[in-house]
Amino acid sequence: MEHYDLLIVGGGAAGISAAKAARRAGCASIAVVDRKPALGGVLLQCAHRGFGDGCTGPEFVRQLLEDFPPEIRVISGRTVLKIEESKVARLSGGRSVSFDRLILAAGCREVPMGALPIAGTRPTGIYTAGQMQEMMNLHGYAPEGPAVILGSGDLGLILADQLAQAGIPVTLVEKKSSCGGLARNRRLLDRDSIRLVCSQTVTEVAGEKWLTACRLSSGEWLPCKTLLIAVGLRPERTLTANLGNPEWLRLCGNCSTVHPMVEGAITEAIQTGTAVWETMRK
Ligand SMILES: Cc1cc2nc3c(=O)[nH]c(=O)nc-3n(C[C@H](O)[C@H](O)[C@H](O)COP(=O)(O)OP(=O)(O)OC[C@H]3O[C@@H](n4cnc5c(N)ncnc54)[C@H](O)[C@@H]3O)c2cc1C
Repeated sequence: MEHYDLLIVGGGAAGISAAKAARRAGCASIAVVDRKPALGGVLLQCAHRGFGDGCTGPEFVRQLLEDFPPEIRVISGRTVLKIEESKVARLSGGRSVSFDRLILAAGCREVPMGALPIAGTRPTGIYTAGQMQEMMNLHGYAPEGPAVILGSGDLGLILADQLAQAGIPVTLVEKKSSCGGLARNRRLLDRDSIRLVCSQTVTEVAGEKWLTACRLSSGEWLPCKTLLIAVGLRPERTLTANLGNPEWLRLCGNCSTVHPMVEGAITEAIQTGTAVWETMRK
C-alpha cells in the first residue's frame, strides 16, 4: 500500500495551500487527493473577477500553483470514499493509501432543494446555484429564462449578474428584509433585469416535466423555467464524522468554516499545514 506522512483530502485553495505550507515546513512525503481531474476546487467554476487583485477563479488557481512543489504527489480523479481509524484512506477504483497525518480540506456542500419545505413535484429546471455555475462556466450550458434565484447572498448575486448578462430576466427571492452578500456584490443589483423581492420565500413549484412557475409566500406565482437554490453552504465533513477528534486529523478551508473570501481559507490552511508537520516532528 502507498504510504504518505501527510495525506490531504481536497485540492481546492485550502488543500493546495496546506500542502505547500507543510512542504515548506519540511514534510517530505505529501499527497493531495481530489475527485476532480485538476486541482483548484470551486475556484475553477468561478468566472467572475472577485479573487486576489481582481482575477477570475481559474486565474487565481494558476497563481496558487505557480510555486507548487513537484515532489508533492497529486492523486486526481479519485474520490476518497472512507477514512479508517487505522489511518487508511479508501479511494475510488479500489486504491488504498495509508498515512501518518490527515488534513481534510473537502470544501462545503450546498443546501439542496430536498432539504427545503417547498411543495410540488421536482420538474426539470431546478438546480443548486453551484451546480448551475459549474454547468454554465465549465460545460457551456445556457439556462432558460425567466429565472428565479432563492437566496440573495454572494452566490445568488453573482449568478443573477451572470444570467442577466446573458439576457435572462432574474427574480432574486430573499426571506430576510434586505439583500445579503458583500457590498461589492450588492451593487450588481443595479441592473434593470434583476428584481429583488425581500421578506419572501418560495413555497411551491409547478410544472409536469419542465418547471413553469414558482409560488412565493405572498401567494404570487412567478412564471419561470429555471429555479436556482442559493440558500447556504455547509462544511463537508461526512468522511470524518464518525472518527471523533483523533490527534492525527486536522480540518481547514470551507470544511472547517465557510470562508466568503478565499484569503481566509488560505490563511487557515497555511497555519494548518505548518502546524501538522510541527506536531509530527515532536
Ligand atoms: C460560488 C462561490 C463564489 C465565491 N466567490 C469568491 C470571490 O469572489 N472572492 C473570494 O475571495 N472568494 C470567493 N469565494 C470563496 C472561496 O472561493 C472559497 O472560500 C475557497 O475557494 C474554498 O476553498 P476550499 O479549498 O476550502 O474548498 P473547495 O474549493 O470547495 O475545494 C474542496 C475540494 O475537495 C474535493 N473533495 C471533496 N470531497 C472529496 C472526496 N471525498 N474525495 C476527493 N476529493 C474531494 C473537491 O473536489 C474540491 O476540489 C467564493 C466561493 C463560492 C462557493
